[in-house]
Amino acid sequence: AKAAGRDRAVTYDAGLRERQLERTELIERLRDALTAGQFSVYYQPIVSLGAGGFDAVEALVRWFPAPGEVIGPDRFIPAAEDSGLIVALGEWVLRQACRDAAGWHRQHGTAVTVNVSPRQLMEPDYAMTVRRALRDAGLPPTALILEITEGMLVGAANQDDRTIAHLSALRREGVRVAVDDFGTGYSSLAYLRDLPIDILKIDRSFLPDGAGPADRQVSFVRTIVDLAHNLGLAAVAEGVETPAQVDLLRGLGCDKGQGFHFGRPVGAAETTEVLAASRTA
Ligand code: C2E
Ligand code: CA
Ligand code: CA
Ligand code: CA
Repeated sequence: AKAAGRDRAVTYDAGLRERQLERTELIERLRDALTAGQFSVYYQPIVSLGAGGFDAVEALVRWFPAPGEVIGPDRFIPAAEDSGLIVALGEWVLRQACRDAAGWHRQHGTAVTVNVSPRQLMEPDYAMTVRRALRDAGLPPTALILEITEGMLVGAANQDDRTIAHLSALRREGVRVAVDDFGTGYSSLAYLRDLPIDILKIDRSFLPDGAGPADRQVSFVRTIVDLAHNLGLAAVAEGVETPAQVDLLRGLGCDKGQGFHFGRPVGAAETTEVLAASRTA
């Protein structure tokens, strides 16, 4: 039994080393990909549930390592975060998103929402980076929303004043801040009260999906929507896939929805068409 245990330990270590090697290779490839221009920003509409218009689009990065091949962010953002490459990649996404959105904003009043990693907000000059991206693109600050996760706010409130300082400064200039995947982290009501935020994005795991106890699921969504409104925040539901979910969210007074029901993430050129069509529809 002892020998078997030792064997297992050896096997485990070898697996770990292999994974670390893969991670190192992935980071190398990501660096090259950034220089080679293999990343692209896709956009998914965020729809006003009352008025029905496309209020905003969320910028979601994609990696095209070879023609016809696409890799989603879940497979490379964690490595980019660990390695610090997210600072350069995140700035690239931000600048691209602001440039793409400038025309959409002029034509349709559409805002753009960009995901931000904790590491980016720890940079001393992050607020300047955002101002420069806005200025270079000719996009007004009121047309930009930064999405941060709940865990990030909690961490920031506990130890990193810089994060809060960046967000507060940018908010005073008109940039809005959204809490992403709300309900999956560990924030307390005090954080929501004290931190510089404007929008709660309800994680898609809270939406009733036809399975499980519907009443309980509905009360959860209602509670989060009411919480947002009581704190003066807008509520956005993520992962909306069915007309039944749209009806429910409208009934609960949820402000906005995002999900495959309204549209999948698509490239910039297609987004221009989608926005133009939504106007004339
Ligand atoms: P997220 O910010 O929660 O983005 C929403 C994700 O849900 C997107 O996946 C989107 O394609 C997917 N989604 C949208 N509607 C539906 C739906 O109706 N049903 C289902 N099942 N899924 C839906 P995606 O594009 O693969 O992005 C995954 C995550 O990667 C994002 O989650 C975000 O956390 C991260 N990410 C994407 N782009 C960036 C970026 O530029 N910077 C950083 N730091 N993170 C990013
Ligand atoms: Ca997001
Ligand atoms: Ca989300
Ligand atoms: Ca997510």
